[in-house]
Amino acid sequence: MIFEERLKKAIHEVPDFPEPGIIFKDITGIWHDPELVRECVQRLAAPFEKDNIHKIIGIESRGFLMGPMIAQALNCSFVTVRKKGKLPRETLHVNYELEYGNATIEAHQDAIVVGDRVLIHDDLLATGGTAAAAAQLTKLMGGQVVGFCFIIQLLHLGGAAKLQSFSPKIISLIDY
Ligand code: AMP
Repeated sequence: MIFEERLKKAIHEVPDFPEPGIIFKDITGIWHDPELVRECVQRLAAPFEKDNIHKIIGIESRGFLMGPMIAQALNCSFVTVRKKGKLPRETLHVNYELEYGNATIEAHQDAIVVGDRVLIHDDLLATGGTAAAAAQLTKLMGGQVVGFCFIIQLLHLGGAAKLQSFSPKIISLIDY
């Protein structure tokens, strides 16, 4: 079976979760197949091999699953970006709008230093609001956004357009 088919089979679609109208893409099945995990990591890392990435930002919480493995593959650091109130030391934060209401993400203030070349990773790109907020946070700390990588992109929500101004290098393994 080709890679895309194996990946699609491992991703379970759950209608009306967490609320009516949302088709939740459950990625946990990918980790039932270590070979598939390895291939995902390799395919997410490979486009950035020559980009001299210093740090990968993983976005809470599903960005923490593959993010550290991509960082290992690129031999760079991994940084956690979390929802408000979870990090124990001094932080910098960015507020952003959700479909209903708003949210805040933050990173330890020393997580990124001026000049860092940063790759932003999450499991899924939907409207792009979350990844754009992570990109804003990166810039606030003096980092340079080199690109974005996602396991899944939901094309109809147009999230990539929101990220273009930070970096046009936006990689996804499977698009719906
Ligand atoms: P957005 O900010 O709209 O791009 O949403 C992306 C964030 O929401 C990611 O952290 C995803 O994990 C999560 N997310 C949004 N839509 C879905 C979905 N249909 N299935 C699973 N996760 C989703």
